[in-house]
Amino acid sequence: MEEEYIEVIKKMPYVHCARGSSRCVKCQEFAKKPETYALVKVFLTPSEYARPMTDIIINNERIYGAYDILKRFKDIIEAKNYAKEQNIDITFY
Ligand SMILES: [Zn+2]
Repeated sequence: MEEEYIEVIKKMPYVHCARGSSRCVKCQEFAKKPETYALVKVFLTPSEYARPMTDIIINNERIYGAYDILKRFKDIIEAKNYAKEQNIDITFY
């Protein structure tokens, strides 16, 4: 079965792995970095691996899925420009 996914731009924290900062030292380090806007690939089909999850809104419905960060933007302007060029939704929440 082909994996279904959607690409969005949203503000994302730095996440090391699915264990989280209470159980992983690397996650604690990553959690100190400020969130930045990123191009995120959110998988709509469940993953067989434990991966960090994020939520996105599609047709007014909140959906949770595993994700990969494809690209980070240095600021909101760069993120907005990319969104316009590539016709990708940008989320401000
Ligand atoms: Zn970790």
